[in-house]
Amino acid sequence: MTDLLKELPECPAPIFDSHAHYDDDCFDQFRDTLFSQLPKNNVGGIITCGCDGESSAKALALAEKYDYIYAAVGIHPGNIQKNTPISEIESLAKNKKCVAIGEIGLDYYWDKDNKEAQKQVFENQLILAGKLSLPVIVHDREAHSDTLELLKKHHPKGVVHCFSGSEEMAAEILKLGMYIGIGGVITFKNAKKLPDVVKMLPLDRFVLETDAPYLTPVPYRSKINNSAMIYFTAEKIAEIRGSDTASVLNAAYQNTVKLFNL
Ligand SMILES: [Zn+2]
Repeated sequence: MTDLLKELPECPAPIFDSHAHYDDDCFDQFRDTLFSQLPKNNVGGIITCGCDGESSAKALALAEKYDYIYAAVGIHPGNIQKNTPISEIESLAKNKKCVAIGEIGLDYYWDKDNKEAQKQVFENQLILAGKLSLPVIVHDREAHSDTLELLKKHHPKGVVHCFSGSEEMAAEILKLGMYIGIGGVITFKNAKKLPDVVKMLPLDRFVLETDAPYLTPVPYRSKINNSAMIYFTAEKIAEIRGSDTASVLNAAYQNTVKLFNL
């Protein structure tokens, strides 16, 4: 992994990775080495997201160990069968390195049979975020209309991560005052609607992310993702928008700092 970091082009501006899962077991062998190297690749900030009680606690432990790492805590829609009590998320969220409630949301791609239960857990966490005045990090996979309905009802601050909706959906999210998260998918050939969304986004309303260890950008798709790879995502966004990589990275960095009150 660290050899791979040495191969990467020099990054022209600081990277803020607004969404990763560094508690994942696949990092166990080299996590500390990676975290000591990433700042040399111009990674200035990372938000690592929990997906249940256990991974949220792990995310916080990483955030407490490294200054430039922050945590989000929450119950992912794919983990609701674990029945993590919302009170557990609430007590974790009071840690000063917790900057958001996430990853929360709806996923009708993997789970279609428990939509009502997913909506309930999502809604409870939107209410918690409101109570604690924290932004949310939202997962929406093939659940656009139900996601939008709950966001319109609760009006959270936050981001729809790894955005996969249409331009119309993006416009609705922006109207709510929320941000759009763009990751490695933009470099994939099958990105479909995403380039049109990227073209229309205001410069002050998007953030960049890896979703590491998943969704590694081209040209490293078969490797484990890491925050330095955001270089390739920013480069592709710059190409689509007729901008330059440094401007995209700088805007995303400032947007992330503002959204999460860092
Ligand atoms: Zn994620």
